[in-house]
Amino acid sequence: MRGFLRRFICLALAILFPLCLCACGEQAEEAKSITPQGKAYFTYFDTVSYVYSYAGDSAESFNSLSADVSHILSEYNILFDIYHEYSGVNNLCTVNKNAGGAPLEVDEKLISFLLDAVELYNTTKGEMNIMLGSVLSLWHECREDGTRIPTEEELLEASGHTGISLLEIDEENCTVRIADEKASIDVGAFGKGYATEKAAEYLESAGAESYVLNVGGNIRIIGSKPDGSGWSTKIRDPFDEAGCAAALLLSNTSCVTSGIYERYFTVDGIKYHHIIDKDTLYPSAYYASVTVICKNSGLADALSTALFCMSSEEGSALAEKLGAEVLWIYPDGSKEYTPGLSELILEIN
Ligand code: ADP
Ligand code: MG
Repeated sequence: MRGFLRRFICLALAILFPLCLCACGEQAEEAKSITPQGKAYFTYFDTVSYVYSYAGDSAESFNSLSADVSHILSEYNILFDIYHEYSGVNNLCTVNKNAGGAPLEVDEKLISFLLDAVELYNTTKGEMNIMLGSVLSLWHECREDGTRIPTEEELLEASGHTGISLLEIDEENCTVRIADEKASIDVGAFGKGYATEKAAEYLESAGAESYVLNVGGNIRIIGSKPDGSGWSTKIRDPFDEAGCAAALLLSNTSCVTSGIYERYFTVDGIKYHHIIDKDTLYPSAYYASVTVICKNSGLADALSTALFCMSSEEGSALAEKLGAEVLWIYPDGSKEYTPGLSELILEIN
């Protein structure tokens, strides 16, 4: 019901404010001197997605490309849905329901995605773990309920069912199996970014230039503006919905933020957000938000969640290895950023 309400509000916002690019996302992307000739929006991943073209291409070409983007996002939305099943498809909801059972045949797109997710588990030393479902669902249920947090006992019990090796992927036979009936997959940290990247790769292969995708605040920029310059991209102030923490000049890259303000609930005056540290099993306390800039949107999404759960020393080393730039905003409002990010800053507050 909440999902429906959220989607409804997002849709209403999108209809009322078609020019506002950050209706539900954490970042705004704004073109100062040039407005997009093409604009389209859809609702997938429980949020609003936008496609913008600044390319000056024909309405026919834009409509055709944005319809294809919509189709790609919709396909991944179905495959990654852990709450609903769809007839004729074995998606992640089916895989989770089948936990402890026999291998399940799935779409090869799901196999590729899960293999990437396992690789990112290793890259991030387990900080981004799609097998954290048992723990995340406890927090999810409490967020929906809004009156209590999970008990220590519940969390500890659930954490015994989060091993990445419980996910058995058979690439050759295109099957997946979760080896423990109490374990489950949650791709909230990586799915949206991965799907965005697939849509962007499609646009690139179709020769699109000067396009911007904004999938629920997950921004992927294809090329640069027709005059060769970048887009001024605003990073939301995590403590003020209308505020801007920084503006970055970006082209041909992705910009993804994980923040404490995105999904949270309050019990006894304490706020509990939605990014869970595997070591404490509680919402990670390091930062108020972490923004990652790198070309691949899937990597940016997974990294924004993973870096949120590690010290900035550890995070900087990982970001450097992967060629990503990062802006960390601490709970006291102070900021830290990678050396490469300073070259992108238009404004920092
Ligand atoms: P958003 O969904 O707001 O874009 P993130 O990309 O940071 O934010 O993803 C947060 C979501 O990822 C949570 O709602 C949850 O489903 C999942 N998640 C939370 N903590 C982790 C974690 N440590 N590893 C993997 N997934 C996580
Ligand atoms: Mg993420």
